[in-house]
Amino acid sequence: AILLDRVNKWYGSMHVLRDVSLQVATGERVVVCGPSGSGKSTMIRCINRLEQHQEGRIVVDGHELADDVRALDAIRREVGMVFQSFNLFPHLTILENCTLAPIWVRRMPKREAEELAMHYLTRVKIPDQALKYPGQLSGGQQQRVAIARALCMKPKIMLFDEPTSALDPEMIKEVLDTMVGLAEDGMTMICVTHEMGFARQVADRVVFMDRGEVVEQGAPEQLFSNPSTERLKTFLSQIL
Ligand code: ATP
Ligand code: MG
Repeated sequence: AILLDRVNKWYGSMHVLRDVSLQVATGERVVVCGPSGSGKSTMIRCINRLEQHQEGRIVVDGHELADDVRALDAIRREVGMVFQSFNLFPHLTILENCTLAPIWVRRMPKREAEELAMHYLTRVKIPDQALKYPGQLSGGQQQRVAIARALCMKPKIMLFDEPTSALDPEMIKEVLDTMVGLAEDGMTMICVTHEMGFARQVADRVVFMDRGEVVEQGAPEQLFSNPSTERLKTFLSQIL
């Protein structure tokens, strides 16, 4: 479970998160949407401490995010993240990309890490690419590797930051299908995405952010068909 309680963050004098409060229960799937610059990435990056907030509380799976290094270690191990740019290591094979962290961070024996990697590569439907390098794969395949790599750390929570927005249309579906599969398995997920079909299909809740604030949240159908603020109405008219 994840709790954000009146979280505030500034970059210099720019106030980018304004009293953001959000609760995500174990097994819940939350989609975050909102205009460019509204603070979506900053918010989810604060959850695994890629960014630091200055005010308010963030609690991830019982660990309060403060300057406690042990809590940070625990959170990094329990929270997987997938970015818009796949961030694979170009000089490592797909298999090595997936086994690196389990071997070095989790101290898993190499053979066990490779078995686990093949399990997840099979799950994202590219076991046959295991010995290739990232540059030899399509964007959609690389993003599925990034998902498999995150899963190899056996995270309790997965964060996605616009995982399909750098992909060609024909590759978006294969990545979304992978994410739908994860959702069906009960993974706790926060996904920043403007794929409203995906939101309708899997989200328990959609959170709309604008200018650093959570403006509205609710079930997808309710939010999309009955936006209660002008800001959300305007946003929906632009993306739908
Ligand atoms: P997008 O949809 O374009 O990805 P976003 O909702 O994810 O936008 P953020 O990336 O969280 O928005 O950015 C929120 C605000 O913080 C923006 O005004 C952005 O310019 C600013 N910002 C983000 N990262 C930094 C940084 N490292 N230093 C200074 N300002 C930043
Ligand atoms: Mg962003």
